[in-house]
Amino acid sequence: MIGAREHDGRRGITILGSTGSIGRNTVELVEARSDLYRVEALTANGSVDLLAEQARRLKPRLAVVADEAAYDRLKEALAGTGISVAAGATAVVEAAQLPAEWVMAAIVGAAGLAPTLAAVRRGAVIGLANKECLVCAGALMMGEVAAHGATLLPVDSEHSAIFQVLESDQPQAVEKIILTASGGPFRCRTLAEMEAMTPEQAVAHPNWSMGAKISVDSATMMNKGLELIEAHHLFSMPEDRIDIVVHPQSVIHSLVSYVDGSVLAQLGSPDMRTPIAYALGWPRRIAAPAPRLDLAAIGQLTFEAPDPGRFPALRLARHALQMGGSAPTVLNAANEEAVQAFLSRGIGFLDIARVVEQTLDAIAPTPPSSIDDVLAQDRRARECARSFIERGLGSQ
Ligand code: NAD
Ligand code: MG
Repeated sequence: MIGAREHDGRRGITILGSTGSIGRNTVELVEARSDLYRVEALTANGSVDLLAEQARRLKPRLAVVADEAAYDRLKEALAGTGISVAAGATAVVEAAQLPAEWVMAAIVGAAGLAPTLAAVRRGAVIGLANKECLVCAGALMMGEVAAHGATLLPVDSEHSAIFQVLESDQPQAVEKIILTASGGPFRCRTLAEMEAMTPEQAVAHPNWSMGAKISVDSATMMNKGLELIEAHHLFSMPEDRIDIVVHPQSVIHSLVSYVDGSVLAQLGSPDMRTPIAYALGWPRRIAAPAPRLDLAAIGQLTFEAPDPGRFPALRLARHALQMGGSAPTVLNAANEEAVQAFLSRGIGFLDIARVVEQTLDAIAPTPPSSIDDVLAQDRRARECARSFIERGLGSQ
């Protein structure tokens, strides 16, 4: 039983995935403004020690671990605090259902879909970091957002940039969205070099400090492919009006080009606390401790076209979006399985895109009729991808 709490004028916040890279940055910002925010719930997968430490500091009503085996340890760690404790995937969804006005969706992967949807269905304001849930259930998710009067605020730095410079009251004036990409740690590597790259090399991002999965996605540039699909849904923008440009300094976070020839951009240091603070404070701005830009010290901002030969993930993501139906769900599921297999050294770096391509080729895209249908398609695509991984990638 979770005790009720009197409203004290502060905004109620729930952080789904509070122990991750985005989650920890969100905790830092929320903790710094305890005059504005109070915490309803914190959730994690299995990092009990960090979750318990965060809970002791932020005093939520509820702390949840998705991993049921971690329940006893969390219960023990929070004994005597009055904080309710729960475990399991359903309990994560229940955490999202508590009446927090603002929810940070920072679980990694399609595992974030059900809890994010639970927050959407009660009309919450959601800071959306979990891009995979929009990739795998985009149209249905946006339909739920509209039906329940929820608000999705992008946290991904590129989408936050676009959100900040998009004149959404005159969509006919927007010509294009231009997503910037750092190019990742292998931007200048040859295909032969990339074939031999290890998980340690792939997660060592030159500009951003992030969780392992998104770091590998940055190295393959699938991250930009997922972001293309995310932008398509968030901003109702057709695929052929979303461009991608490589910008290795990660200072310009994305741009919008207008019919009069103007191009508006948002700039800042590569520090996720800025887009998180924008979503947290929206519609006002709150202070964030990100390093300030020193343009003279940076000296040069450079740009180049992405190389489709070395980064096939970009082509695959565009193709999935063009195919429509379940293709983006399949793309995302296969990518999650392939990244996991790469991180556990089951396949090589370039095999990630091969697994995704084979899985996309193997499954005919059918339009999902419901979220349950999306989840079934996700499971089917994972099984298919795993079979390619186990069989050593078929024809490769
Ligand atoms: P991370 O791996 O550091 O953290 C993931 C969080 O989700 C952790 O709290 C973990 O305990 C929790 N989690 C993992 N699996 C779970 C499961 N099955 N059920 C419930 N909880 C689970 O990841 P991150 O880098 O913080 O990224 C989170 C999301 O934000 C991703 O979708 C990523 O693409 C997106 N994002 C991250 C960044 C970044 O800078 N890190 C930038 C833009 C977007
Ligand atoms: Mg991004």
